[in-house]
Amino acid sequence: MNKLFAIYGASGCGRSLMPVAVEQLQRCYGNDYDSTQLVFIDDALQTDTVVNGHTAMSYESFKELKLENKSVLIAIANSRIRQSIAEKLTHDHIELWSVSGNSTLIMDSASIDEGTALSPFVTITANVTIGKCFHANLYSYIEHDCIIGDYVTFAPRVSCNGNIHIHDHAYIGTGAVIKQGTPDKPLVIGKGAIVGMGAVVTKDVPAGAVVVGNPARPLNK
Ligand code: UDP
Repeated sequence: MNKLFAIYGASGCGRSLMPVAVEQLQRCYGNDYDSTQLVFIDDALQTDTVVNGHTAMSYESFKELKLENKSVLIAIANSRIRQSIAEKLTHDHIELWSVSGNSTLIMDSASIDEGTALSPFVTITANVTIGKCFHANLYSYIEHDCIIGDYVTFAPRVSCNGNIHIHDHAYIGTGAVIKQGTPDKPLVIGKGAIVGMGAVVTKDVPAGAVVVGNPARPLNK
């Protein structure tokens, strides 16, 4: 065994991404798949255990494993926790791992930063730029010329149309639809904004705002 991979977080998000990670290793390593090892890391664990057939351990135990090549996907929906764990991993010289399913489609000239989780049936179309530790859950898509910041989270089935800019730490709820912008006036979702489940976003969302409904409006109005 010469390469160790881990899913950080053994709750809902992590357990859903583990089979995607297995698919990715089988795809990338083929006959050498048996030379890889894949475990869960979860800080709630006091002792090593088994979750869905995979060894699960604390971060301290993971760090003690004597292997040079370690890569970790942070599979925790909370983007602030993702950022603090990413900073810890970088400090410890452990690589951020990106994972995508066999059914994930990535089209031309996409630029995707490290630590990204693309669930099954996610589609990223042409000329899309995506920051660090992005999560796109089942069936979400991003159309052409979108720019997605760092630590952005898409719940399942988000429809992100063309020329949309989504800033760091924004959260887009299940089934939300975001209207396309134009090259000279992209639709902007501000830093840390939350778009509620099923919302239809037709105009810019300010940083930190929570919007819901069709058409989407701030929750506090
Ligand atoms: N967790 C962790 N380290 C942290 C914060 C969270 O290992 O610093 C783990 C936590 O113990 C839990 C998982 O991450 O098992 C987060 O699970 P939760 O159900 O909150 O959300 P999910 O992201 O899986 O939807």
